[in-house]
Amino acid sequence: MMEFHDVHASYDAVVALHGISFEVKKGEIVCLLGANGAGKSTTLRLISGLIHPKKGEISFNGQNIHNMSPESIVKLGISHVPEGRRVFPGLSVTDNLVLGVSNRTNVSKQELKKDINEIFNLFPDLKRLQNALGWTLSGGQQQMLAIARGLMAKPKVLLMDEPSLGLAPIVVQEVFRTIEHINKNMGTTVLLVEQNASMALAISDRGYVMETGEIVFQGMAKELLNNPEVQSAYLGGRVKGGCNNEFS
Ligand code: ATP
Repeated sequence: MMEFHDVHASYDAVVALHGISFEVKKGEIVCLLGANGAGKSTTLRLISGLIHPKKGEISFNGQNIHNMSPESIVKLGISHVPEGRRVFPGLSVTDNLVLGVSNRTNVSKQELKKDINEIFNLFPDLKRLQNALGWTLSGGQQQMLAIARGLMAKPKVLLMDEPSLGLAPIVVQEVFRTIEHINKNMGTTVLLVEQNASMALAISDRGYVMETGEIVFQGMAKELLNNPEVQSAYLGGRVKGGCNNEFS
């Protein structure tokens, strides 16, 4: 479905990716793991067309997308839930959701209402808070709203950048359960960027571990969780215990 082939990326003189190759297959949850600065967010920015590679190819369903604009990429069915949630603080929950359909043309009022109701069934908290302004929501509620807004685009692939960032462990578990539900029940493919390696691997099919712009480990999520090198370097030597096993 999505493939990176020898992709290099830089910000002026700063080289962020030194030629990475990986794939995401339809229906999978794939996680990109790694410490700060490893190149995870850069990888998502490349897919969404926010930056373009210096070299290499990115394809989606066989089509090269690495020179396309963000607008064209969203229209292909790729939706990016950015790090830091970025909900619109002065808009209500419902108005934030409405902005999520901007990639779809000719959405009737009826269709919009139906889609919002489906989202409210999936996120009952957002239904209760539908008239609340973005800034009044808790961090967890804002994260749910950011995911929900991403879903309003009816994406084939959801790119999620650090959904656990800054959230309490119990909220993190809820967010990850929601991601798993979306994947299993709505058939949405997910590419998940996380520093919380154990939580991400627990819901993923496969994973890639990045270090300073390169992929250093890859495999099935279970294999990575049980790999002694990955455990000691990236899981704090422990694989159980969930949210404490973050990169430092
Ligand atoms: P984090 O979890 O901190 O976001 P990351 O794995 O997502 O880490 P990136 O944000 O992709 O890493 O950063 C990869 C490299 O590119 C780092 O060396 C970083 O300093 C650099 N970088 C990222 N964004 C910019 C930018 N806008 N300008 C210059 N350098 C940047």
